[in-house]
Amino acid sequence: MSDNNINRRKSNEVCIGDVKVGGNNPIVIQSMTDTNTSEIDKTTNQIVELFNAGSEIIRVTVNDSEAIKAVPYIKEKLNKLDINVPIVGDFHFNGHILLTKYSNDAKYLDKFRINPGNVGKQNKKDKNFSSMIEVACDLDKPIRIGVNWGSLDQELLAEKLDANNLLKTPKLLDEVICETVIDSALASSKFAESIGLKKNKIIISCKLSKVNLLIDVYQKISKLCDYPLHLGLTEAGSNERGIVYSACALGPLLLNGIGDTIRVSLTTDINGRRSKEVDVAKLILQSLGIRYFLPDVTSCPGCGRTSSDYFQKLAFDIDNYIKDNMPSWKQNYPGVENLKISVMGCVVNGPGESKHADIGISLPGRGENPIAPVYIDGKKEITLEGNDISGDFKKILNDYIKKKYN
Ligand code: SF4
Repeated sequence: MSDNNINRRKSNEVCIGDVKVGGNNPIVIQSMTDTNTSEIDKTTNQIVELFNAGSEIIRVTVNDSEAIKAVPYIKEKLNKLDINVPIVGDFHFNGHILLTKYSNDAKYLDKFRINPGNVGKQNKKDKNFSSMIEVACDLDKPIRIGVNWGSLDQELLAEKLDANNLLKTPKLLDEVICETVIDSALASSKFAESIGLKKNKIIISCKLSKVNLLIDVYQKISKLCDYPLHLGLTEAGSNERGIVYSACALGPLLLNGIGDTIRVSLTTDINGRRSKEVDVAKLILQSLGIRYFLPDVTSCPGCGRTSSDYFQKLAFDIDNYIKDNMPSWKQNYPGVENLKISVMGCVVNGPGESKHADIGISLPGRGENPIAPVYIDGKKEITLEGNDISGDFKKILNDYIKKKYN
């Protein structure tokens, strides 16, 4: 499962449906739908897409009575498709009303996400929070205390700011906000426990959209409790920004053993796949050697030494070939996700990199002989030439997989 020496922070194990989070369990990938939950078919279809991409827990918004009433029907459809992925309900503002009035529907959810900044103000805050926790206790459901600095408990923040202003050397605003995020998460969790929710029913998240602050907050909270931590950079953005910012935020934490479950919050492209966030989450874990999901292709960027775009085409061709074949390989060749392949553009780093891979090819660069040596398990096995180097390499790859993972 893992090829690194990361010392995971010790945390409680929390069961969400059949998925275990925290303890010694692998880091779990989550995602969230962006459909109107009450549109049962659309929501079910997107859950199926996210599940097929590899999401192990899926959250849906539960913002009104139609949404919560849709949950049993969505679950029924998923059962018919033999998909048993835990579904989490995301509650804000009216969660106390929905959970108490529709507890018969809420029981089909596998976890409730509660945002302590959105449960109500003044004397209603504790009352509303308590009623949600009581439903969780009655239905034996885990919860996530999901604090987000975009919807931080404003009363708690005001208290903290007042206290800060009295200090001889007041802290910076960002520092006070980060402290409030942590305090809100921990105080809400303790309060939930005092109402009767067991410790092993609580997961915490503290989401911010600034990478350095997010890392700081998680480093601090990881030392203050043993609840499992759900990691994610909130509002990461779209495209390259969302991917790079999320990777930079999660990478240092995961390498330090912090984080039991992750979500990458990408803005979905118009007509794009929602499941791209799952692909990115898998790649983050794979890049760190924490979990492997599909064979890894190392390829060089190419440069003036590459004589044509053949090398780029081959690198993409192999990548696509792996993605297309992975569903059947996964069934037939357990462990194939650990395979390392390299596709290199010339003799400078080609042979060396190929030797680090299980199977590698070094294409001819500008001015080199038109031949492509193939390395298997560190040794040069064969030299390809002619018009179909790509086809020949795929055949060698297939034979290797059959032999090694059968
Ligand atoms: S391996 Fe060769 S082609 Fe690829 S980047 Fe290095 S020098 Fe350029």
